[in-house]
Amino acid sequence: DLVPIRRALLSVSDKTGLIEFAKCLANVGVELVSTGGTAKSIAAEGIAVRDVSELTGFPEIMDGRVKTLHPSVHGALLGVRDDPEHAAAMAEHGIEPIDLVVVNLYPFEEVRDSGAHYASIVENIDIGGPAMVRASAKNHAYVAIVTDPADYKDVLDSIVANNGCLSYEARKKLAAKAFARTAAYDAAISGWFAEALEIDTPDWRAFGGKLQSVMRYGENPHQSAGFYLTGDKRPGVATATQLQGKQLSYNNINDTDAAFELAGEFDPVRTAAVAIIKHANPCGVAEGASLAEAYAKALACDPVSAFGGIVAMNRILDAEAAEEIVKIFTEVIIAPDATPEAQAIVAAKKNLRLLVTGGLPDPDRAGLAVKSVAGGLLVQSRDNAIVDALDLNVVTKRQPTQREIEDMKFAFRVAKHVKSNAIVYARDLATVGIGAGQMSRVDSSRIAARKALDAAEAAGLAEPLTRGSVVASDAFFPFADGLLSAVEAGATAVIQPGGSMRDEDVIAAADEHGIAMIFTGVRHFRH
Ligand code: 5GP
Repeated sequence: DLVPIRRALLSVSDKTGLIEFAKCLANVGVELVSTGGTAKSIAAEGIAVRDVSELTGFPEIMDGRVKTLHPSVHGALLGVRDDPEHAAAMAEHGIEPIDLVVVNLYPFEEVRDSGAHYASIVENIDIGGPAMVRASAKNHAYVAIVTDPADYKDVLDSIVANNGCLSYEARKKLAAKAFARTAAYDAAISGWFAEALEIDTPDWRAFGGKLQSVMRYGENPHQSAGFYLTGDKRPGVATATQLQGKQLSYNNINDTDAAFELAGEFDPVRTAAVAIIKHANPCGVAEGASLAEAYAKALACDPVSAFGGIVAMNRILDAEAAEEIVKIFTEVIIAPDATPEAQAIVAAKKNLRLLVTGGLPDPDRAGLAVKSVAGGLLVQSRDNAIVDALDLNVVTKRQPTQREIEDMKFAFRVAKHVKSNAIVYARDLATVGIGAGQMSRVDSSRIAARKALDAAEAAGLAEPLTRGSVVASDAFFPFADGLLSAVEAGATAVIQPGGSMRDEDVIAAADEHGIAMIFTGVRHFRH
């Protein structure tokens, strides 16, 4: 199963390591054939190389759109050497077999991300390259395909060790890698089109990911796990730089994402904001004049749950905030950046992971979210509704005060990031009680109130902070009972989507208790 490497075709955009590789191949007696730019680079080093147009008897045309798309090339790649008919066709048409193909593609992804114009991005969709990669990979029984400069050295070592041959095992591995590359390449192209067209029927193929890391385990120790990057440059856990701390676990990545997406809801020009997350749910969120103040307010919401949490913020981590955060055990800190002083403070906690993202995710931006179900993938557009852009309708006799309005908007912003059924009590731009993930809304309401009582007790306060608070619900109250439980806890204003068959009952109950209520018309289910 060893195939002697007699002739190689090289056609690469990324010329990293090319000359060294070409030189060594020539030295072991491999004949080199190459396309325009690649041939020029090789010849410039005094290495013998034939131009592919010599093989095809056809010049490169149309600005290189057509250079290797020719039967002389594809016949040489696809011919089954042991098939007499194929061999006869090759002889008849003067097709010389090619045993080794070295191709990397036009840098579509880099050009896409460079802010280039539409036409240049389209021009960087490689056609001939993937055709050669796929042809050689399909015919791996006879042909070796190298698509990654990182493999040049191993391929050479293997050729030398096998007296000028490559093994079937090696060719098969290279073929698998080659198809992974063309699949990711096409996924990048289709994802770009989907974005450019703002296609709202999501296409899961846009998720063709690149393996970034393998974790020690998944959600539980008996599960394996890996982290794949989609190429989306949205600031967040996937694109962040880790400045210190242990490797992120599967749960860390999931929770850190939830944390930073929530922090991104708060415009850093308007306010400082901090979110503390446990099990993908916030256990405290607050705005403040500084990050340190916001952190203290967020922590006060549920200091017990915050232990071992993930802390995300919307501004550059400063020393003052870092001092506060390191006082309790925290798994991860994620911020747009961190000052050198803050980094030095965090450095005292060796295991604490510090991630900087270089920016905030735009809550308004379109995008896709994916979830797996047995036998399928559920794909939807991201929930990019933001409360500032909604029509807020007061449906009660009493109008909310300005302070209640600010707190309600804050609470609804947070509720979007709490698992349903979500109930969020807020006061003075801080959460004071969060009820998450219950099967009944009234249970979430009761749990949120209960947590506020616990926090008050721990802080030695006479009454819970829900007294004089506002409450947000991610979906409508189906009955008046959820609202009444909020009234009992001391809420004076309610923000919710509305739209229940019994809205009239809920509004009547609110009016009866002097509650101000806003309908947003938008629901924030999150499961
Ligand atoms: P070179 O720098 O050698 O002129 O071009 C190398 C690049 O051309 C490689 O990235 C290769 O994938 C691509 N390529 C090879 N053949 C063709 C072809 O027929 N059409 C197009 N569009 N690209 C090709």
